[in-house]
Amino acid sequence: MSILVKHLTKYYGDQAAVNNISFEAKSGEVLGFLGPNGAGKSTTMKIITGFIPASEGVVEVCGLNISEHPMEVRKKIGYLPEHNPLYLDMYVKEYLSFVAQIYKVPNRKQRVAEMIETVGLQKEQHKVIGALSKGYRQRVGLAQAIIHDPDVLILDEPTSGLDPNQLEDIRKLIKRIGSEKTVMLSTHIMQEVEAICERVIIINNGAIVANETAASLQQFANVQVVFVEFDKSINKNRLAKLANIKKVTEAAANSYLVEASMDIDARKLIASFAKEEDVLVLAMRKEERTLEDAFKDLTRT
Ligand code: ADP
Repeated sequence: MSILVKHLTKYYGDQAAVNNISFEAKSGEVLGFLGPNGAGKSTTMKIITGFIPASEGVVEVCGLNISEHPMEVRKKIGYLPEHNPLYLDMYVKEYLSFVAQIYKVPNRKQRVAEMIETVGLQKEQHKVIGALSKGYRQRVGLAQAIIHDPDVLILDEPTSGLDPNQLEDIRKLIKRIGSEKTVMLSTHIMQEVEAICERVIIINNGAIVANETAASLQQFANVQVVFVEFDKSINKNRLAKLANIKKVTEAAANSYLVEASMDIDARKLIASFAKEEDVLVLAMRKEERTLEDAFKDLTRT
């Protein structure tokens, strides 16, 4: 297992920012770490990369316990922090060479040139970092994260603030890297997960609320939504009170969106409700649910 997190907890004062979470990530996997702001994503990533200590629990990277082997673990991890801290006065090439030196990378000059090509910085390589756009700075950040050929890559909101073209380029790059390495990336953008992640962990208030393949996440939320139109208005509270019905909202005149658990076919229930209430069903259809809906259901507080 490339990343193993067991019963990890982090307190800031009295607040458990991360509360007893456990998960694993395999090699060749892009793992999405999803959650609303303040959920505990950055805190978890900072602990895995050894930047801050855990309060409780165990983290292993490539079989090494991070508190017992901090230096070895750092060599195996590449990290792009949330606010990609770069030396703005340094030149791109100079900076990457400096990072390579810290990691004692052999054939430094050649490796820097390789990285510049991998992340698509050829045109910008002679510029000072402070003169680069946000997208190119993210590329420099990615290059410094992978220059020592780490087995595990931890990326905290790698695409935040990028324009759509830059976004696509960086996502492609992450996907390519993820085919060989283990990539864990945090985001609050649903499309990002759909575009690049094989598996998704959703964290909310410091606790894991889902750990699923991206495809199965929608079922995991255990909600189906049915649109129904009756010939006259109904007492929606009576419908909402039926077993397995979670919520009824008025969509238009005599029309409702009915949320129900997946344990039943909500359409049958609505049909028999209509019969009992002596109203007619004029239209009924299951609504398509997106990953975004599932995320909202799982992280509603
Ligand atoms: P996310 O990355 O999901 O937005 P964070 O891990 O940054 O969440 O934060 C989780 C919680 O911990 C938040 O409530 C945040 O305010 C709190 N927090 C984060 N860092 C610190 C810190 N250094 N001191 C105190 N509280 C912190």
